[in-house]
Amino acid sequence: MATSTTGHAIVIGGGIIGLATCFEFQDAGFEVTLIDPDPISGATHHAGGMLAPTAEVQYQQQALVPLMKESARLYPDLIQRVTQHTDLPTGYRTDGTVLIGADRADAQHLSELIDYIKAEDLDIETLTTRQARQLEPALSPRIAKAAAIDGDHQLDPRLFARALFDAVLARGAQHVRETVSTITQSTTHQSVTLSSGARIEVDSSDVTVLAAGLGAAKITGWFDGEHPLQLRPVYGDVLRVRVPESLQPLTTRVIRGFVEDRPIYVIPRDDGTVTIGATSREDQPHPRTSAIHDLLRDAIRVVPGLEETEFLEATCGARPGTPDDLPYLGQVRDNLIVSTGYFRHGILLAALGARTAVQLATGQQTSQAVASCDPFRHATSTLNV
Ligand SMILES: Cc1cc2nc3c(=O)[nH]c(=O)nc-3n(C[C@H](O)[C@H](O)[C@H](O)COP(=O)(O)OP(=O)(O)OC[C@H]3O[C@@H](n4cnc5c(N)ncnc54)[C@H](O)[C@@H]3O)c2cc1C
Repeated sequence: MATSTTGHAIVIGGGIIGLATCFEFQDAGFEVTLIDPDPISGATHHAGGMLAPTAEVQYQQQALVPLMKESARLYPDLIQRVTQHTDLPTGYRTDGTVLIGADRADAQHLSELIDYIKAEDLDIETLTTRQARQLEPALSPRIAKAAAIDGDHQLDPRLFARALFDAVLARGAQHVRETVSTITQSTTHQSVTLSSGARIEVDSSDVTVLAAGLGAAKITGWFDGEHPLQLRPVYGDVLRVRVPESLQPLTTRVIRGFVEDRPIYVIPRDDGTVTIGATSREDQPHPRTSAIHDLLRDAIRVVPGLEETEFLEATCGARPGTPDDLPYLGQVRDNLIVSTGYFRHGILLAALGARTAVQLATGQQTSQAVASCDPFRHATSTLNV
């Protein structure tokens, strides 16, 4: 186990979690090897990219709140450090978020959410419809209720992940374009086996981070019995449209809320495109026609000008879900750290997840908030030594 701030970190998975983890290990003085056959091809490619610790507060998920708050606090510094090592854009924007309820029942839902947010000591300001339309003139006059959250921000996950990838390669990371099949461990030795059959021997002063999103559930060898990581795909449809130049910017803030109890968000990007999302279901891993229809209808109801946009893309991504919606983040043995299962919040939680992995590897104190993320909390299995 690396107790000083030098060593070698082997990071399995090049989604936002693995890439941010590579970056933080480099900042801590480690050499880095990233193993991924196709970086940025998983959930990160499809995500909305809302950094929304306030609007994402959900009933009976109190353990998530401190994780989200802390990671949101870390983000400005992470973005600033990443942009020192790459010229690529990140799409990071701090314009804030407007929450809406479309009809009377949605307004009631939003009122309850506002009360809940205030009870969690998070900042939200209730707006009249008129005030909301002064902030965002493209909002429909027919919305029933609105509120503003200045502290909920956004980035473009594809851009930020590419910027991270560029930054870690520029700082000398080695990229192995392969799939990991097993991590085997004896009392003295660890090795990472690739699907080609090649093996990477891991020195006792090195650290391996399992950050392969849903793919982590297929990597075996490091435990006895059932796989300890109970990951499941939770699919979400997302759309992308382009706003004609004459209408840009259609909105500056993220608009999100409920239409007939269906969640909807509209995220404006710097390049004039808008991301519209997202559904949530546990079957059918491809864009579903009814979901595309619902998303477009609901988004147009909230921001009518979206009718004038050019349709670019419908995709469907798989969130890496866990039974209690909390990530699996922790050290499972001296030189093996698990960092996956970030479900709906992996873009937001990447800053905290990456920093925590380095703290674990270097024997530093981690945040109290991550105590709820033990990777073995759902396990019937044990470590294999
Ligand atoms: C529709 C949708 C909208 C979302 N919106 C938001 C949002 O607004 N805000 C937010 O915070 N979160 C959001 N999320 C959640 C977020 O996208 C995920 O939590 C996050 O991307 C997970 O990142 P990851 O790096 O763990 O996994 P992934 O992005 O899935 O990356 C995993 C990587 O591991 C690699 N891999 C897999 N198996 C192996 C293996 N055996 N060996 C080597 N490499 C392997 C894959 O190739 C992939 O590159 C959204 C998700 C979806 C689907």
